[in-house]
Amino acid sequence: KAKKRLGFNYQYYTADMEEEMAERLAMLRMLRHDFFNDRLELWYQPQIELASQRMVGMEALLRWPQANGQFISPAVFIPLAEYSGLIIDIGNWVLEQACLHIKALEKQGYAGLRIAVNVSMPQFRNHGFVQSVIDCVNRYQVKPEYLELEITESVVMDEPKMVIDALQKLKSFGIKVAIDDFGIGFSSLSYLQQLPLDRIKIDRAFIRDLDLTAGEVITETIINLGKRLQLFTIAEGVENKAQEQALKLMGCDEVQGFMYAKPMPPAELLHYLQQQKQ
Ligand code: C2E
Ligand code: MG
Ligand code: MG
Ligand code: MG
Repeated sequence: KAKKRLGFNYQYYTADMEEEMAERLAMLRMLRHDFFNDRLELWYQPQIELASQRMVGMEALLRWPQANGQFISPAVFIPLAEYSGLIIDIGNWVLEQACLHIKALEKQGYAGLRIAVNVSMPQFRNHGFVQSVIDCVNRYQVKPEYLELEITESVVMDEPKMVIDALQKLKSFGIKVAIDDFGIGFSSLSYLQQLPLDRIKIDRAFIRDLDLTAGEVITETIINLGKRLQLFTIAEGVENKAQEQALKLMGCDEVQGFMYAKPMPPAELLHYLQQQKQ
């Protein structure tokens, strides 16, 4: 594999590219097969309010289990699903699962938890996206404010007007909107004003570097920006006490990270909630 990237010989290079494309197509075929055979799973990672240390919501994260017990990362298969359009069907399924899950938690005595779902660009481009989200919420009788959509800066930058229009409709229906991985996408700050946002998710990269001046300054700046714009802030990838302490001092509202809990399947999440109650 070492010679792969050297590519001095043009023929090697194209052969490699072909091989890589063939691998991706094979993976896409497997993904499609597994999705339509109900083998994708939706896991949930708790989101904790810093002041009360209570779980206030969760992020839904896709998992694709393999026969060997491992998982293929969403960072690998989501781009394939986006490229192929399969993300439309997968995205609808994710929304349904999320709505079903909030209802199930409610029945178990855990009402009032928010669920955040990641949404990709092709979903916005798909005609009827807004209505399908609203229909889903209505069908499962979920309070719209318990559903939050996470969009990245790149989604906004791609087609600002269309995305802003769609989000405004969803927002007026009561659904919450968060901007994900904030700070790494070089978006224009002016979009922050135009977007109907509720929450800013500070990218994991800045939390990782909280012990460095740059990470600290950027994190604090984002939190202050949130305060001035009256948006909630949540930090992703919180892994230790030092980071939590720094975020508390800066006035960050919520945290999500391995320090509190990793993403887990629904049954395990219920267990987690039951333990928190004691
Ligand atoms: P994301 O939306 O930014 O999700 C947060 C990622 O950070 C998740 O990775 C999560 O497992 C990870 N994470 C959480 N806490 C920590 C921590 O303390 N340390 C570290 N190192 N990582 C932490 P994951 O599950 O691998 O997902 C990767 C990305 O795949 C997501 O990033 C999201 O962009 C995408 N994705 C996942 N599920 C979906 C989905 O249902 N739809 C769409 N469109 N994209 C999804
Ligand atoms: Mg996210
Ligand atoms: Mg993120
Ligand atoms: Mg991310």
